[in-house]
Amino acid sequence: MGKLANETAKAELGRATWKLLHTMTLRFPEHPTSDERSALASYMHLTARLYPCGECAAEFTELLRKFPPQTSSRLAASLWLCSVHNEVNARLKKPTFDCAHLDATYDCGCGPDDDKDSSASSLSS
Ligand code: FAD
Repeated sequence: MGKLANETAKAELGRATWKLLHTMTLRFPEHPTSDERSALASYMHLTARLYPCGECAAEFTELLRKFPPQTSSRLAASLWLCSVHNEVNARLKKPTFDCAHLDATYDCGCGPDDDKDSSASSLSS
């Protein structure tokens, strides 16, 4: 695979991964149990450990060390991931994303009945 194809594949993998991670934090319970909190933190650490792009994995591992996952609520987890993504954006000289727009950007297509925590259906509630 040539350099351009490599960069395209790396970018596609990045977009898909960010989409999954952001959508997951935006559906994380508003009042998570300790088991749910540790599951989310483990998921992030395992993603960093197993991420297929080595440079990205090293970057994510270092970011997790500097900014440990915030898992106390949906809002805390969503804003934490948004700011970590912005750290990666800054390193790659991409624009900063306004974290106030998270709710409008990520829709999982799941109905309200699927919400893991029916007491809260959006970031702002
Ligand atoms: P992406 O950064 O992929 O973002 C996709 C979409 O998410 C954007 O179009 C925007 O709508 C939205 N978005 C942007 N910022 C935020 C935010 N802060 N919060 C919420 N939504 C947002 N690539 C490298 O070349 N080197 C690396 O070291 C590297 N490290 C990475 C580490 C991780 C953990 C991941 C998941 C990816 C990494 N990547 C890395 C890939 C890189 O971050 C991008 O995914 C890729 O370059 C494609 O960029 P993009 O401009 O399409 O937007």
